[in-house]
Amino acid sequence: MLVDSHCHLDFPKLSGHIEQVLESMHENGVGCAVCIGVTLEDLPRVLMLAEAWPTILASVGVHPESTGVREPTPDELVELARHPRIIAIGETGLDYYWHKDAPEWQRERFSTHIRAARAAGKPLVIHTREAAADTLRVMREEEAGEAGGVMHCFTETWPVAEAALDQGFYISLSGIVTFKNALTVREVAGRVPLDRLLVETDSPYLAPVPYRGKTNQPAYVKHVAEEIARLRGLSYQDLVDATTRNFFRLFPDARTKVPQ
Ligand SMILES: [Zn+2]
Ligand SMILES: [Zn+2]
Repeated sequence: MLVDSHCHLDFPKLSGHIEQVLESMHENGVGCAVCIGVTLEDLPRVLMLAEAWPTILASVGVHPESTGVREPTPDELVELARHPRIIAIGETGLDYYWHKDAPEWQRERFSTHIRAARAAGKPLVIHTREAAADTLRVMREEEAGEAGGVMHCFTETWPVAEAALDQGFYISLSGIVTFKNALTVREVAGRVPLDRLLVETDSPYLAPVPYRGKTNQPAYVKHVAEEIARLRGLSYQDLVDATTRNFFRLFPDARTKVPQ
């Protein structure tokens, strides 16, 4: 089976027809999808999905781009992460794309999540955009490697990937890898050690070819896996087996929580 390690099923484009989304996952051999928290306010909706459906797991975190939302404390995140369907802390990280002034509150929020992940013994789901150097620095300063985790929807260069791998992190690739002009991501797809690679959709965004521009969904992670297998000269099944094995190694809590 294939795993979509990062999606947003609670977002309006997907939450309205969740049964079709799950049916399509089943038809495409996608046995698990992790619905990622982006604010504390929205967490109840994420948990409702993960409680209702055995193939959906969840994470808790406040996204670096979220503004005007409740700021978590490490203790609060640790407490929320006790929920039996929550396997990770995040998504967290730094994103200077919309915040060109690189605000201090983003780094503070990121540190809070790393501290919580270490205290809770749960891996981190890290988002980084136009902030690679600071992301790696905060990770080092806060010893994020103690908790481990994944650099999700990775779009940075190979040296950034290498630095994250050096800290013990996994690299997760999205549908961007199917875009022919995404040369950096396609290079990374070929170079990440096979035992450190995950796949995801980040749906409802970033639908892979041949659905580019449409609403994405977890079933389409199949196209991400197919493209990476092609780029690496591997069989589809070998790529599926490796990434699913990696997922359950990184998120051991997930092993007993989804039907396999
Ligand atoms: Zn993200
Ligand atoms: Zn996301």
